[in-house]
Amino acid sequence: MTAEGKRACVIGSGFGGLALAIRLQAAGVQTTVVEARDQPGGRAGHRRKDGFTFDGGPTAITDPACLRELWQMTGHDMADDVELMPVTPFCRLNWPDGTVFDYSNDRQAMQRQIARLEPADIAGHDAFLEYSAALYEEGYRKLATVPFLDAMSMVEALPALAKGRTWRSVHEIVSKHIRHEKLRQAFSIHTLAIGGNPLTASALCALIPELVRDGGVWWARGGTNRLVAGMVRHFERLGGTVRLGDAVTRVHTLGNRVTEVETTSGWRERFQAVASNADVMHTYRDLLGDNHHGRRMARKLASKRYSPGAFIVHFGLEGTWPGIPHHTILFGPRFEGLLKDIFDHGLLPADQAIYLHHPTVTDPSLAPEGRSTFYALVPVAHLGKLAIDWGEVGPVLEQRVLAEVSRRLIPDLADRIVTKFHYTPRDFMTDLNAHLGSAFSLEPTLTQSAWFRPHNRDDVIGNLYLVGAGTHPGAGIPGVVAGAKATAGLMLQDLAQ
Ligand SMILES: Cc1cc2nc3c(=O)[nH]c(=O)nc-3n(C[C@H](O)[C@H](O)[C@H](O)COP(=O)(O)OP(=O)(O)OC[C@H]3O[C@@H](n4cnc5c(N)ncnc54)[C@H](O)[C@@H]3O)c2cc1C
Repeated sequence: MTAEGKRACVIGSGFGGLALAIRLQAAGVQTTVVEARDQPGGRAGHRRKDGFTFDGGPTAITDPACLRELWQMTGHDMADDVELMPVTPFCRLNWPDGTVFDYSNDRQAMQRQIARLEPADIAGHDAFLEYSAALYEEGYRKLATVPFLDAMSMVEALPALAKGRTWRSVHEIVSKHIRHEKLRQAFSIHTLAIGGNPLTASALCALIPELVRDGGVWWARGGTNRLVAGMVRHFERLGGTVRLGDAVTRVHTLGNRVTEVETTSGWRERFQAVASNADVMHTYRDLLGDNHHGRRMARKLASKRYSPGAFIVHFGLEGTWPGIPHHTILFGPRFEGLLKDIFDHGLLPADQAIYLHHPTVTDPSLAPEGRSTFYALVPVAHLGKLAIDWGEVGPVLEQRVLAEVSRRLIPDLADRIVTKFHYTPRDFMTDLNAHLGSAFSLEPTLTQSAWFRPHNRDDVIGNLYLVGAGTHPGAGIPGVVAGAKATAGLMLQDLAQ
């Protein structure tokens, strides 16, 4: 038996959902993607305003090979649908005292910059990269696409996890190799990009520097939304169906099987397999109705740790800034204290660390001629920790964030604003059904990774699957695309029976 001709539904069109849908359709499974919003992409949604294109979420495309594979499987070429452009430096790190560090995969340039801060850290950096490379091989290349369905799979992975001392935090591992405080921040800050606290996230996240070094950092011409559009085009070319603007309201079950999917519009269809790319809490709490197992899972998920929210100010400016790279991190005066305020204390501190996205320096097509598109993101505590009225606080924080970008990089920013708006954790909750408005789903701690994360196939409802940031291996485009491979493998195997 093969899976060909069987019918599957994917709820949600985030990167994980689309990657899974492409894999299923490519294998001959008649696949329907059902998306609540009127545009695909999930966290990679976009908005066009006053001639500017504002991508909402992911800005750095890493491990492009995992994306290309989605086309190569059927003999197609991703380049026909999406043009990837290299981004260098990968990121500029900028501290309040004026120290600047350009992060790239130019080893000599990196060593020169490290030497300026702490010559002894050159050797430490080499050792850290070696560590990161070994972890990348074991933790990403070998394990990210393997579903962790039972305790045995965890036992089998233990030697690799133990070798990487993955019970330690990213910051601990980095600090073991590197002495200078700013360099410690430089080599652990990436953890935030997948929702982890560098101080507590599993050292597994320290594989990212090698992932980035190996595959580079890329941008899709026209914006991340073009990558999403390219994936949709490819999926439809293979014969798949995308249903937009029709939220799933119910996944019907009979015994321990999913039978049908029902949406707001009243559309109701029978499928042999259903995968949810929607938020895991939303899936179990809201979509399974009064299913006993769904309720139990929702209670279990309520006790987990969720990654923080993100507050994002989008703004379009008159003028261009060739000197401001595509990606900049503006560190604030505090590092550990700030992380504790966000992750533990649930405070909205006066000082911020800002990630500044400046796509028009790579790709001017995102703004009218002579103008620039930016977004400034600050990580903030999620709604379960920080109970504030974002309607009131949003405009104040927006002013504060813009003032800091102005003070550090663009002195006359206020006079150059053509358009602006902001996006808060509350928007993540209302637009995406994100539990607690979390930007990256479950926090990537060791006790919430691999087998400890919600499984790619549900333990009880045999034809219900998960894909996306809430399941193994976790958030980030490479994470959810790798997870889609794990989930697709299970679905194709099950559908073939
Ligand atoms: C601000 C920000 C910046 C980021 N930057 C980067 C980066 O630079 N690089 C990187 O690799 N990663 C980055 N990430 C992480 C990455 O974007 C996410 O981990 C990834 O896109 C999540 O994909 P997903 O498959 O989990 O689906 P999601 O994007 O979460 O999409 C889920 C989809 O399900 C839909 N849905 C929900 N409920 C229903 C329902 N009832 N019925 C139908 N549909 C439903 C939603 O509308 C949504 O479209 C960033 C994330 C954020 C928030």
